[in-house]
Formats: sequence, structure tokens, C-alpha cells
Amino acid sequence: MSFPTIGVVGGGQLARMMAPAATNLGLRLTVLAEGDDVSATTAAQYTVGDYLDLETLRAFAAEVDVVTFDHEHVPADHLRALESAGVNLQPGPQALQYAQDKLLMRQQCDRLGLPNPPWAAVSSVTELLEFGDRNGWPVVLKTPRGGYDGKGVRVLRSPEEAQDCRDWFELDFEALLVEDLVPFSRELSAQVARTPSGRTATYPVVESVQTDGVCDLVTAPAPGLDPRIGGAAQEAAVALAEGLDVTGMLAVELFETPGIGPGFMVNELAMRPHNSGHWSMDGAVTGQFEQHLRAVLDLPLGSTEPVGAYTIMKNCLGGANQDLYSSYPGAMAAYPQAKIHTYGKSVRPGRKIGHVNVIAAAENELDEARAAATAAAAIITEGQEHE
Ligand code: ADP
Repeated sequence: MSFPTIGVVGGGQLARMMAPAATNLGLRLTVLAEGDDVSATTAAQYTVGDYLDLETLRAFAAEVDVVTFDHEHVPADHLRALESAGVNLQPGPQALQYAQDKLLMRQQCDRLGLPNPPWAAVSSVTELLEFGDRNGWPVVLKTPRGGYDGKGVRVLRSPEEAQDCRDWFELDFEALLVEDLVPFSRELSAQVARTPSGRTATYPVVESVQTDGVCDLVTAPAPGLDPRIGGAAQEAAVALAEGLDVTGMLAVELFETPGIGPGFMVNELAMRPHNSGHWSMDGAVTGQFEQHLRAVLDLPLGSTEPVGAYTIMKNCLGGANQDLYSSYPGAMAAYPQAKIHTYGKSVRPGRKIGHVNVIAAAENELDEARAAATAAAAIITEGQEHE
């Protein structure tokens, strides 16, 4: 059997959704899971181990042909040690640091000439106040590392609010990132896959609606997007993938800023499949999970062509319904066009437990598709009585 084995560090839903893509291609996939009960364990072969422990990572890597990731949290030192030992890491530590650290990411965007909001590294409330006084309030203060789903992000509307951030400067960071509050019209995401030998494939730029810092609804492609902005955003994603030597899937989260710069600014990077790309599982010729596997194996990339005019992706966040399966008959009967994905997770309020994709075959079906995806997701999260 010459089929390779892919090792995925982290057992969340992204690792889980790589499993069927691997199965379809006859690839072997194994997961280094945080525990027996995480999302990927009911879908893939796995071993339980701590990704913070270098020896555990070494032992895991020894059993696979390529190591890739469900998340960005493996310490950079460990990644470098693995790389020095000859482990095939995709993406490698050189690239991953820019998804791990927002200050380093901002520096790289400047270096590559890509549009950043005005930003600075600040190590004290005094420096924070200086930035706000210079650039105007409000500002956004971010921890460079460890943030997700809006945690580690604080909007400061005034110097008085900045005074309340003293505790953040006592955290274990040399500096925090402060940037202008961008007056964006909406949030976009540009995804590209890149192989170690340098092939790239871009997906259409999508619109992503975030609620309380969490991705809620994605429309692919972004409706009404100026093709020049879309094209420039795709070029920026390729420039980042090439400039930072990213392999696998890269998601570039963007703010749309019509009339300012090229019409967008970079928000942050994710070097793995991303929530804003879940639409592609049903809405593109090649879904992002298959594309990620192709990319990390240095295989030719698949077509990213959409299969309908639009695809809607609606996230399911934990709600009142604890027994997700009990909602399936109702959701499936009412919305046969909905592609339902759930992640094998226990339900907790606000937790990402699944998503629903609905394809709009034509432009004039977009509203209907959005309504159907939203209603099907609500049945799943809230239960049948909320239909
Ligand atoms: P996380 O790492 O938690 O995903 P982000 O840096 O993406 O954090 O910020 C979370 C959300 O906060 C963004 O999706 C956006 O809605 C808002 N946000 C972040 N930075 C800015 C900014 N500079 N201007 C305006 N809104 C911002």
C-alpha cells in the first residue's frame, strides 16, 4: 500500500471533516486528539495525546507521512524541533508563526505591501493612549496570540476605556496589537490552497457575517462584490500564501472598505481549512477539506469552481436542543435541499456544533436559500417546536 498517512494535530471539527475527504481518496488519516470525546474521534482513527508535549508530537509524527493541523496552538519551538528532526510539517513553522501571532502577521502584510489598518505594537497603557490620540478613537486592542472567536479582542471607545486595560498589559506578552477600528461595510474571506511545490488555487471571495465575534452566515461568492475588489483580494491571498510559504489551505479574513485603499484590509490569517470555507463542501467542485489534503500531499489541486450561483453556509451554535438527532426528521422533511453537517459534539450554549449548506442555483434564489439554511439550522439548534 503506497497510499500515504496524514497525521492531523488536534481533534476538532476541522480534523473530523478531513476524514471523509481522506476516505474518498483512499488516504489514511489519523488524529492526535485531546481526549476520547473530541469531535474527530467518532470519525477518524486517532490517538489521545497532548500537543503541548514535544515527545508526544514526535511519537505521533513518526507514524505518519505528513503532519498537518486542526488549529494553530502547537508551540512554535516544538514545530521547529520537529522540522529539524526531518518531520514533514505542512504548513511549516516559518509560515505558521504568522497565523499564531497577529503582530508578526501585521509586519508581514506591511512587508508584502498588503493593506493593513493603521496599527502599532504597544507595551503600556501610555503607548496605547498615544496611539489612540494620534489615530483617533475608537481603537481595537488585541492579544497577539491565543485569541479565537473574538476572545482576545477589545474595542476601546475612549481614553477612559483604555485605562481599564491595565490588566491586559500584565498578561504574558511583550507587546499587544492595537489597530484602528476599521469602518468596514462587511467582512470577507479569501481562501487559497498552496502546495509545497508552489501550485495555488483560489476560491471565490465570500461574505462572512460574524455575530459576537463568531462566524454565523457565509454567502459564497460575496454578493455584489466589485470584481476588482474580489480579484485584488484573491491576489492578496496568493501573495500571502507565496510570501509566507504557506502550504495547505489559507484563509485571509478581510474587511471590505469601499473607497479606501484597494477596497479591503487584512484582518487575520488561518492556515488550515476555515469556517468561512465550509460552503465549499457542497458548493464547489473541490471542497476545502479535500483541497487541504491534496495540498499537503503536494498533489495537483482540484477545481474551485462553484456548483451553483451561490452557496449559503449557516453555522449551528449550541442552543436549547440537546438531542440534535431528534431534530433531523423535522429539518430534513422541511428542507430537503439543506446539506446538514454536525460535528459529534455535546451541546453547549454558543458552541459550534454543525452547519447547514444550501445552494442557490440562480441569483434570484439567494434569499430563499438563505431563509432555508437559517430555518433548517434553527430546527437543529432549537428543536422541532421552533420550526
Ligand atoms: P479572532 O482571532 O478572535 O477571530 P479577530 O481579530 O478576527 O479575532 O477579531 C474578531 C472580530 O472583531 C472580527 O471578525 C471583527 O468583526 C472585529 N474586529 C477585529 N479587528 C477589528 C478592527 N481593526 N476593526 C473593526 N473590527 C474589528
